[in-house]
Amino acid sequence: MALDGKVAIVTGGAQGIGKEIARVLARNGAYIVIPDISIVQAQQTAREIEELGRKSLAIQADLAQLSEAENVGKSVLDFFGQIDVLVNNAGITRDNLFLRMKEEEWDTVIGVNLKSVFNCTKAVIRHMSKRRSGRIINISSVVGQIGNAGQANYSASKAGIIGFTKSMAREFGARGITVNAVAPGFIDTEMTRSLPERAREEFLKNIPLGRVGTPEEVAEAVLFLASDASRYITGQVINVNGGIYM
Ligand code: NAP
Repeated sequence: MALDGKVAIVTGGAQGIGKEIARVLARNGAYIVIPDISIVQAQQTAREIEELGRKSLAIQADLAQLSEAENVGKSVLDFFGQIDVLVNNAGITRDNLFLRMKEEEWDTVIGVNLKSVFNCTKAVIRHMSKRRSGRIINISSVVGQIGNAGQANYSASKAGIIGFTKSMAREFGARGITVNAVAPGFIDTEMTRSLPERAREEFLKNIPLGRVGTPEEVAEAVLFLASDASRYITGQVINVNGGIYM
């Protein structure tokens, strides 16, 4: 299998897209670590991964805090002895029109969505550099590419992830580490089910493939980027968006 014996960290993997990424990587041979702020759900996901016959470790962590991300890195190395793949997936929304957006809404979203990517990358990069191999996959969003009214904080964090991805790809290519982003469009999850019906309809009108995507369709792009099949791809943004942005 594509990822036999590899160790993959999927941040925010307790539920939603991250959970599906964890499942798809596990089905393809990877051992899975799930650092998430929601430990009960992370443990449940880890149990489901174990049922697939793969070792899995759930860790409670607020990844917006560097020290907590670094503790995750140390725990994974103690437990598994190696880290092959990091999927920076944890993310939140605190939507508001800009005139009403509070500083706290800005700071929280930038902290969880963007700073956590810095934190988790810090936590694994020395280890990957020493081994001269590693895969880092950052989950951005179409909103980071085209913007969205009411999501200045979220779209800034997701655009920031793209700049970070390209810089890391340039810094660590010589170390055998690839760094790519996946930018999902409108995916069927709790995050999008809570959108008002009118906003959903508006989105659908603009999707050439005429439907929302599934978490599995995002997870399969992540699997490709985590596998050897993508070894000559770095610094790229893979759009999984039904054509809403091209
Ligand atoms: P989700 O269902 O809310 O899952 C995100 C997970 O991250 C949750 O388990 C969440 O825990 C956890 N988390 C939140 N803050 C954290 C923190 N500080 N430290 C560690 N874990 C934390 O979201 P999703 O819809 O699957 O989205 C996953 C990723 O895809 C996000 O980066 C999102 O921006 C991106 N994305 C989603 C869509 C979409 O249509 N859904 C589209 C484009 C991009 P809690 O539940 O306790 O907060």
